[in-house]
Amino acid sequence: MGHKSLPHTLDLKMFTKKGEYYCGRIPLSTMKRLSNFLANDNGFVQVSLFCGYDLTEFAFVKIEIETQVQFICQRCLQLFTMPIKSKSYLSPTRHDNEAKDLPDSYEPVMIQDNCIGVKDMVEDELILNIPSIPKHKQLDCKVLLEDENEKTADMHRKRPFAQLKKHFKGNDV
Ligand SMILES: [Zn+2]
Repeated sequence: MGHKSLPHTLDLKMFTKKGEYYCGRIPLSTMKRLSNFLANDNGFVQVSLFCGYDLTEFAFVKIEIETQVQFICQRCLQLFTMPIKSKSYLSPTRHDNEAKDLPDSYEPVMIQDNCIGVKDMVEDELILNIPSIPKHKQLDCKVLLEDENEKTADMHRKRPFAQLKKHFKGNDV
């Protein structure tokens, strides 16, 4: 299926009955709100959009994003990379009242002068997908590994005494 390159804005005129595909990538460094949450703004987000009308004549945008972002782990303070991949269905909305009337399957996306800002929409999606407290997966995190090592060390420290005890008991009998 053919697609067009990613536009800066989606005009409602670009929504057709048949629907239209747009693909492209946006540098993370252009997203200042997102950058606040990240360890750095290296890299790109891959975006594909499909805009059209559903069977009930509802205008919608299907937005798919895929990227990798870097955080500082809040447990061990080391840098780590997290993949983000998401798919959402949005519906262009002029004000909050309209947003309340949306079917459950759609999230609102605000339009101004009949246009949706593509970068803002993508940035919002990314922010929704990042964890409030970024942390490694437990197995990858240095802090937990060190805890584990300490536990094993404790066990080794205790074991000789236990064996010593056994030894003395044996002698007592
Ligand atoms: Zn960690």
